[in-house]
Amino acid sequence: MPEYNDVMSKQTLQAGIEPGTLYVVATPIGNLDDLTPRARQILAEATIIAAEDTRMTRRLPGLDKPGKQWVSVNEHSEAKAIPGLLARLAEGSNIALVSDAGTPLVSDPGYRLVDAVHSAGFSVSPLPGACAAIAALSAAGLASDRFCFEGFLPPRRSARLRRLQALVREPRTLIFYVPARDLSEVLADLAASLGEQRLAAVARELTKLHETLRRDSLVALKDWVDGDTNQRRGEAVVMVSGSDTPPQTVELGALAQALAGELPPSRAARLIAGLSSLSRQQAWALVHPDNQRSQTSEDDSA
Ligand code: SAM
Repeated sequence: MPEYNDVMSKQTLQAGIEPGTLYVVATPIGNLDDLTPRARQILAEATIIAAEDTRMTRRLPGLDKPGKQWVSVNEHSEAKAIPGLLARLAEGSNIALVSDAGTPLVSDPGYRLVDAVHSAGFSVSPLPGACAAIAALSAAGLASDRFCFEGFLPPRRSARLRRLQALVREPRTLIFYVPARDLSEVLADLAASLGEQRLAAVARELTKLHETLRRDSLVALKDWVDGDTNQRRGEAVVMVSGSDTPPQTVELGALAQALAGELPPSRAARLIAGLSSLSRQQAWALVHPDNQRSQTSEDDSA
């Protein structure tokens, strides 16, 4: 069995670019020194760079060179770009997929392309690097053994509150992406929905000049943001510790019996099947355990 370091150095030596491969390349979320040497190499050697915003990615060191082919892959262009990119992989070209910052596909375009590349039988290889959610979590000191990445909350308040309502009893640490200009409103909604005293953290402008990381209760974080307009500049990750109230569970059999006492059995079975992953037949067995055969006649008369 080789030593870990031997395996690593072997892979590094062999890390030439493979033909017909899509490389998913993480780029910095602020500090350009966070571009890894391997990402530099693949970006320099790839025939095609599929970028969310080609002008933005050209600013990375060493990339504004003639001869490189650029394809736009963003929410508007991704579906249209896929057939052409698959044809290029079939010819043996290699492609580097990048987003404006951080890891592609994480609240960024690329999922459809990666899915299509797998389905077409080509290789996909990740080049790990910066990701705002993971960087923020690594420095927040909130439980990190299990976490729940929620990406961006809906911009409309009613939809946002509905989404948060579904997370009230989530036991894992919650992670949200929040443009800093929305921090005050989002923290207010988080406090109202999840509880003012829940421990939380705001990580803003990570790896940049004005990097800020603050931990406090949701209500205290909102007051802090309201008292300092600088905190509404740039980009932020908000993390909230999970609920320590266990999720409410209802035993399906008991629910079925309760519904059967109030409703015709076929309606109760339909409701149970709709609320669970049970088939109508399985739900019927719960609602009417002693008389499963009468389901057909009940259904016929329903
Ligand atoms: N794909 C990226 C990643 O791997 O993190 C995320 C892209 S998403 C469109 C942009 C959001 O990520 C921002 O609104 C913010 O919530 C978060 N973000 C990006 N850069 C950040 C930074 N330097 N500091 C804090 N949050 C950042």
